[in-house]
This record gives sequence, C-alpha cells and structure tokens, in this order.
Amino acid sequence: MKIVLLGPPGAGKGTIAVKAKEFYAIPHISTGDLFRNNIKNETELGKKVKTILAEGGLVPDSVTIEMVKNRIAEPDCKNGFILDGFPRTIAQADALAEMTELDAVVNFVIEKDDVIKRLSGRRMCPSTGRLYHIIFNPPKVEGKDDETGEDLIQRDDDKPQAISHRLEVYVEQTQPLIDYYRGKKLLKDIDASKAPAEVFENMKEALK
Ligand code: ADP
Ligand code: ADP
Repeated sequence: MKIVLLGPPGAGKGTIAVKAKEFYAIPHISTGDLFRNNIKNETELGKKVKTILAEGGLVPDSVTIEMVKNRIAEPDCKNGFILDGFPRTIAQADALAEMTELDAVVNFVIEKDDVIKRLSGRRMCPSTGRLYHIIFNPPKVEGKDDETGEDLIQRDDDKPQAISHRLEVYVEQTQPLIDYYRGKKLLKDIDASKAPAEVFENMKEALK
C-alpha cells in the first residue's frame, strides 16, 4: 500500500505513522526526519537545509523531490510506503505522480489551536526521533527518553516564532493539496483531534 499522510504540522502524522508502519508492514518515510538526520550527520545536504528547517521554511522542491525519489527506489519500498511530510507543494505532488501510483491520501483534519498546543509541547529523543508531548504523552521521567534515558530536545522549529511561520507556509503551499487529491479521488478525511489510538482506528477504517 502506498499512502501519503497530509495535514498541518503537529496534526499527529508522525505519531500515527509509527503505528501504521507496524500494522501494514511498510516503511515510514518522513522527509523531516531525513533532513534532520542529514543535519545531524553534517552531510552536504544537511548543510544546505539547516537554516531553512530552523526557520520553518520549505526546502526547495528540486532537492526534496530528488531525496524522495531515491528513498522510494530502495528495496524496502517494493510493497509500499507511508509518506509523512511529502508532498508539501503542488510541484512535489506532480513529481510524485510521475514516480508512482498512490492508493490513498489520508488527510488529518484538526483545528489550528490544537496543532499549536501539540507543537509547543512536542519533545523528541535526539537519536531515535521518538516523540513525546509534555502533557499528552509525557515520558516516564521528565525530560528523559523512556528507553535510552537521553535528554529530550525541543526542535528549534517548535518554538513560537517558527511555529507561526510554518502554519502560514502550510496554508499557502500545502493546503491546496487537499483539493488536488480530492479531485483525484484519493483523499480520505479523518478526524485527527482525538487520542492517537482513536485516530489510528479512524485511519484503518478509512483505508479499508
Ligand atoms: P512537521 O511534522 O512538524 O510539519 P516535519 O518534520 O515534517 O515537520 O518537517 C520539518 C521541516 O523539514 C519542515 O518545516 C521543512 O523545513 C522541511 N521539510 C520536510 N518535508 C518537506 C517537504 N516535503 N518539502 C520541503 N521542505 C520539507
Ligand atoms: P506531525 O508529524 O503531524 O507534525 P507529531 O506526530 O509529531 O505531528 O505530533 C505532534 C505532537 O503532538 C507530539 O508531541 C505528539 O506527541 C503529540 N500528539 C500526536 N498525536 C496526538 C494526539 N492524537 N493527541 C494528543 N497529542 C498528540
């Protein structure tokens, strides 16, 4: 199954993708995670995109499309994949349509106030990318990863200035994909405001 998770930053796409990759036994491809790994490993790509991510802008389409094209050509994607955070522009969606045929696009429907709450409380394990929320999904020991015990971090782009910029970018560049995929009869709307287990049930139902 080839699916795209669409929705604003903080809608819970990454959280649901972790459940879905186990259930459907297909890889979870997060373009944000790919960029962050390149930044951490100080690759050429990482150097190119570091400031863009910190400010909450979009990496140029050409760079992003090339990265995804290479990733979905890898053998573990032969039975499908979950794309999380891609496409984010119409140009990316057109490029994806040339690479492969999708089965569905799951649209995470959620209010702006909720995503701001989710983003501002998000914490992450720096080495594994495991996600937490200070209120909705706190770690067992405050500030520490449950498994590795590492100090959790707050992403630079989850600070207030970058959050509001990212939400503007979402409305301008990514929201038009809702109509784009509705027009292609691929869009499945799900209520993403509920707790993760319920959101995942909604998604499974929508994909039946
Ligand atoms: P979130 O899930 O909070 O929206 P992501 O982890 O998906 O954040 O993305 C983090 C950042 O990585 C984005 O703000 C953007 O700078 C960059 N990025 C991720 N995916 C794309 C994409 N498809 N096109 C351009 N930039 C991207
Ligand atoms: P996205 O990938 O769409 O940017 P994340 O999965 O990273 O979103 O979730 C953003 C934040 O909200 C994280 O801190 C996560 O723990 C929390 N979160 C995710 N889904 C839910 C949910 N259904 N209810 C409450 N908090 C959630």
